Order: sequence, then C-alpha cells, then structure tokens
Amino acid sequence: MTRVDLNGIGMTSQRTRERLIQRLSDQGITNMTVLDVLRTTPRHLFLDEAMAHRAYEDVALPIGFQQTLSQPYIVARMTELLLAAGPRQRVLEIGTGSGYQTAILAQLVEEVYSVERIRPLQQKARQRLRQLKLRNVHMNHADGGMGWEERGPFDGIMATAAPEQIPEELLRQLAMNGRLVIPVGSDAHQHLQVVTRTAEGYETEIVEAVRFVPLRPGTVR
Ligand code: SAH
Repeated sequence: MTRVDLNGIGMTSQRTRERLIQRLSDQGITNMTVLDVLRTTPRHLFLDEAMAHRAYEDVALPIGFQQTLSQPYIVARMTELLLAAGPRQRVLEIGTGSGYQTAILAQLVEEVYSVERIRPLQQKARQRLRQLKLRNVHMNHADGGMGWEERGPFDGIMATAAPEQIPEELLRQLAMNGRLVIPVGSDAHQHLQVVTRTAEGYETEIVEAVRFVPLRPGTVR
C-alpha cells in the first residue's frame, strides 16, 4: 500500500484537481484519506489521449469495448463504503477496466486481486499500474462473477459492473466481517448495496441509485 509517486508524471493543473476534490467533499465524501488518494492519483493516465483532457471532470468516460471509467464520485463513494468498518487486507475487485479504481484501492489496502473479462483492457491496466509502481495488485483474466476462489476469502469485495442478483460465489468468498460493495439490478434500475458477512449470516444495506455497465458472463480475448 504505497502511495503513487508523482515525480515525472505530467500533472494537470493542481487547481482543476482541487476543484474536483472540493466537489466530492460537497457531495458528502468524508473520508479524508480517500479524498487525498483521489487528489494525488493521475486519472488522466487511465484514459486514451482523446479523453484525457476531461479526466478531472466528475463524469464517467469511455475506455473502449463499450465500457466506462466510473465517475470520480462513485469511485470515492464505493471506496469509502468498503473501508467504513476499518482497514482491509485482501480485496477482490471485479471489473478492472481502466485500472483506475484498482490504483485507488492499491493505495488504501494491503493486497488487491482484480478480475477482468476483456483481455485488452486488462493488459492496458496492467501497464498503467506498473508505470505507477503499484506492486500489490494481482490480476486475473476470468469471469469475476465466479470470484477468485484460490485467492479468497476476502475481507473486501468491490464490483464495478452490475449483476441482476448477487452471485452466490461472491458471498461465499467473503471472509467473516468482510464487506461486499456492489451495484445490483437491471440496466435502468440499479442500487449500490453493501453486504456484510456476520456470524448470523449476511446483512444488506441499500445505499443509493447508480448506473453501471452490466456484469457479463464468460471472457473476451
Ligand atoms: N473500475 C473500472 C470500471 C470499468 S467498467 C474503471 O475504473 O475503469 C466495468 C468493467 O467490468 C468492464 O471493464 C467490464 O469488462 C468488466 N466486467 C463486466 N463483467 C465482468 C465479469 N463477469 N468479470 C470480470 N469483469 C467484468
């Protein structure tokens, strides 16, 4: 869990970034460590050149293959929810995409296990994370709906693609007191949920309405 070293990485204007962080805080993000990591992680590196100039707007942006890099507010919110019950050691992320959320997590938890079904996206993400020297990230090209059994159980799981129902496998791979942060529902009607595994079973909290790309089965080479 080392922080990104900004030396040598082209920084967009500090003021543009500060404005974004202010906006996130106005929208109710209160975890200062999370805000700080968002402030210092270069989101423009996770976008193609044609989109990079919009990197510090609070919007979702296309990354190819009909997928999107999530809006900074959502990245901050989900990260804050994952960490709300204390620090996490082993976190499974489903949907590496650009690798931006992965980079945020890598600076806040011990180890990140990230699964992506589209190989070219995963390869680009891998290069970016290497460039940022984030070495506590482990990647798998697979269907994340199955979790990552060999590396579990996880005390945190975050999905950045929405299933219609929470896959059983993810619940099974959640450690005791582990937290699962996941958007659930069909295209037009999704809610962010936080599921905690307790001695009695699973507790679910519905947080807010969201819009994510769907969790899809199988893999793409
Ligand atoms: N967190 C990403 C968001 C990417 S969009 C980012 O910050 O850029 C969601 C991603 O989930 C896409 O890359 C999509 O390919 C991936 N995805 C969808 N279904 C999946 C599945 N079953 N297993 C793994 N990844 C999946």
